[in-house]
Amino acid sequence: MARFHPPLSRHGIASLCTGRNEDGRFYYGRRGSPTQWALAEALTQIEPGAAGTVLYPSGVAAIAGVLLSVLKPGDVLLMTDNAYDPSRVMARGLLKDFGVETRWFDPTDTAAFEAALCERTAAVLLESPGSLTMEVQDVPAICAMARARGIVTILDNTWASPLGFAALSHGVDISVMSLTKHVGGHSDVMMGSASASEALYQKLRRRAQMLGQVVSPDDAALVLRGLRTMAIRLERETASAIAIARWLEGRPEVARVLCPMLPGSPGHELWLRDFTGGCGLFSFVLKGGTSAARDAFIDALSLFGIGYSWGGFESLATPVDPATIRTASLWPLPGMDEADRFGIRLAIGLEDAGDLIADLEAGFEAWRGYR
Ligand SMILES: *Cc1c(COP(=O)(O)O)cnc(C)c1O
Repeated sequence: MARFHPPLSRHGIASLCTGRNEDGRFYYGRRGSPTQWALAEALTQIEPGAAGTVLYPSGVAAIAGVLLSVLKPGDVLLMTDNAYDPSRVMARGLLKDFGVETRWFDPTDTAAFEAALCERTAAVLLESPGSLTMEVQDVPAICAMARARGIVTILDNTWASPLGFAALSHGVDISVMSLTKHVGGHSDVMMGSASASEALYQKLRRRAQMLGQVVSPDDAALVLRGLRTMAIRLERETASAIAIARWLEGRPEVARVLCPMLPGSPGHELWLRDFTGGCGLFSFVLKGGTSAARDAFIDALSLFGIGYSWGGFESLATPVDPATIRTASLWPLPGMDEADRFGIRLAIGLEDAGDLIADLEAGFEAWRGYR
């Protein structure tokens, strides 16, 4: 028969009597074990200002867990218009069913954000740079406005991770990541996290326990292993992504490169001001053409896989059609031609940048032949 170590057992009994238990003590499987705590602690350490981190079985579960912790019926959630689509779907479905109203705002328009605030606004969900179109938000300005009104700010910080953007230091209340991406880093595990200061961390932790959110120790071990090489992978991906983005910028077939790390690209000034690093994820828009021509481009790639995920060792490409998703901002972006609407998002992995450029050249050749 399995036995607990006596002091742990005594602690467990005491907790049962009081209905409380602390982190870092054995109690019951759903409350974690040393491997999960080691990962949560490491993530807390890399996020300056965080008192604790809650782990969730996916990035989407982390976003849901956080929203269900800070919102109640009658509240209004403000969400950036370039948020990850499943976050939008969650707002229109789950949150609406629970009596929470969501309003979207243009990610680049801080004045529009302020105008959208109302008495019932309880939380803001930011994502910077945002999925697909990569706009960088003025996170410190938005968080300061929200904090003055007692509104909780949540940032989906999957793109930069705390190594590239210290979210809490810039005024964010809760920093969320899909660990499936950079932290796991090998496309073989799914997990999410939320890091926050003490009071919010306790709130998130209690709600995650009520919702039965738990990750396995084996998955936590995989993510911990990924974390050990994340900094060096991010450096390499960032350098390759900047080289490839520069090359794309010089191509006659490209209307716009959407990469805040690239001088002249939208959001570059804010990125320079607020960020200490980047990653391999960015998009570009083809000059005219058709959806089928874009398919031909992607099909001609052999090093790039086709996939929605990113942050792993291998490069991926995926078509981008923001017009069908966003509701509070324009696509094509202001200043772009109406015909320039077919985008491709690239997730640059660890391959040689020259090889990836050669692969993209084959894509352009197929695109020119199809157009
Ligand atoms: C992938 C992703 C998520 C969701 O993460 P999963 O682990 O796939 O659930 C959330 N936010 C962003 C920005 C993502 O790219």
